[in-house]
Parts: sequence; structure tokens; C-alpha cells
Amino acid sequence: MTSTNDVGLESDRVQNQSGTISEDLCCSICQNILWKPVACRTCETHFCSACIQKWLSNANSTCPLGCNPYSERTCSKFVNTPLSRLQVACIYESNGCREILPYEAVEKHETQCEYRLHQCPGCRSSFSKNEIETHISHCELNDFTCADCKIVCKRRDVSQSHTEMICVREQFRQYRCQSEETIKQLREELKKLREKQQFATPSYERVPCGGRPCIKCSKCRDWYFTGNAETWQWIRYCENWTKEDYNRWHGDRVYDRFKRRTDGGTCHTAATAGFTANHGVTTVCLCENNIIA
Ligand SMILES: [Zn+2]
Ligand SMILES: [Zn+2]
Ligand SMILES: [Zn+2]
Ligand SMILES: [Zn+2]
Ligand SMILES: [Zn+2]
Ligand SMILES: [Zn+2]
Ligand SMILES: [Zn+2]
Repeated sequence: MTSTNDVGLESDRVQNQSGTISEDLCCSICQNILWKPVACRTCETHFCSACIQKWLSNANSTCPLGCNPYSERTCSKFVNTPLSRLQVACIYESNGCREILPYEAVEKHETQCEYRLHQCPGCRSSFSKNEIETHISHCELNDFTCADCKIVCKRRDVSQSHTEMICVREQFRQYRCQSEETIKQLREELKKLREKQQFATPSYERVPCGGRPCIKCSKCRDWYFTGNAETWQWIRYCENWTKEDYNRWHGDRVYDRFKRRTDGGTCHTAATAGFTANHGVTTVCLCENNIIA
């Protein structure tokens, strides 16, 4: 059994009315007592919200009584007031619930009623609050999760899908993945440390541009070269440059291929200014590894 929300309010659940219930309080679609009613703005007929929603979702655009197009308004107080006077038996009465509730309190009670049935997600059978947990932990159609390898399979399939061999293999595979992850992290850390070591410690004298000096050549290493390897080798030996080389350096604006490091550099030289090779002298580090293509 589901809740009143799903099946509507059957008139025999009403406890404080003898005889038939006024037609005005009944839904003209499901014939039950109106549940969360709304009304057609034109003919004022009331329907359960769920009933009219279902009607409209079946590609109907008119009111079930023909008003075109259907336009909705809230429930009239002439319907609401008598509804609120109804005393209604809990929908789980047949499961043992003895509660009789005012119309307005029905929904809240039913969501918490201890006689409410709970569905097993595996076999879809319904059980009381007390039985459901035990059932789920034994139901063959439910998922079984291995505490060791975390494999999930239907309890019914455990003997094939989760043999001891599979379990141990899976644990081993997970262990290996974890170690690979750890190794990867250590590599990352090492890489960061190496990058730090490109710079001399602060006890070294600062280079004139204020940048961080290279640990090997003591020139500014806040800049690095981004061009190709051939060009980089050519720049590295700029002390041997001829007029032709200088023409290439300026003509191709090769100095624009230097980029500033973004990890906290302190060099205050404006872009390109630091590398203008004069007679083979640059202020930036020309060490072999100062290129990031
Ligand atoms: Zn209805
Ligand atoms: Zn209508
Ligand atoms: Zn109840
Ligand atoms: Zn089950
Ligand atoms: Zn396992
Ligand atoms: Zn610098
Ligand atoms: Zn250097």
C-alpha cells in the first residue's frame, strides 16, 4: 500500500460522516474525496491535484468537463472548510494503525506512520518497519557489498561474481592503484623541489634586476625561454654573435620569446628589456635547462 498522495482519499476512510459524502467534496476524475484540490477557473469543478495533472499530461488542454483552455485556480473555501472537518483513518489501518486524523494532518502522519510499509529495493516486496532491515540483509535480489574488496553484486550472484579468488585479486589491484597514486604524488613533490632548487638561496647576492639568481650561473632566472631548442642554443652562445646574429635577434624580436616565471619572481625588469644581448652579454640565465617549450 502506498500513501494517500498516490491513491487519493477513499470515502470509507472518513469516520465522522454518516451517509454519503457531498458530491462537492469528491473529485470528478477519481470519484474519491478531493485530495490537495484545485479547481477549473471556468466551471469551478474541483479535482485532486494529482488527478488533473495526470489528465493534462495525457495531451489534454481542456478541463475534463470541456472548458477550453483549462485554467487553474486554488481550491475554494467552500470546499476547503468542509474538507478540513473530516476525520480520516490512517491509510495503514489494515496494517494495524489505529490513528484517526483531521484531514490536514493525514499527510504528515502517513509519512511517519510506523505501520507504513517499506519496499525492498531488490525484490520490491513490502515490509513493516521492524522487518525491512532483516529482510534487506538477507534478500537474494539485494546488493551485497564485500567489506574487503568493496565489490558490489546481487546476493544471489555472490557465488559466481565474488569468489575468494576474485576478492583477493580485486584487493591486490586496488592496493596497486593506491601505491601508483602515492608514487605519482611523490614525483610531483620532487618536481616542485627541483624547480625550487633552480634558484640560489637568499644568502646569495641579488642580481641587479632584483630577480632570483640561478643557482648555477647567478644570473636572473625569473625569466625563461619559450622558443625552440635550436634558437635557444643559438642564444646561449651569443658571446660569439656576429652582426648578422644581432640582426636576427632584433629583426625577429627573439627576446619576446622570454617569459616571466609566475611562481613568485622578484625581477623588476620590464618584459624584453633584460635580454637585449649587447656584445654577448645578457642579464638572464642562459643555462641549458632554462627553456620551457
Ligand atoms: Zn481525484
Ligand atoms: Zn471546467
Ligand atoms: Zn498510521
Ligand atoms: Zn527483497
Ligand atoms: Zn571481496
Ligand atoms: Zn631579472
Ligand atoms: Zn643559470
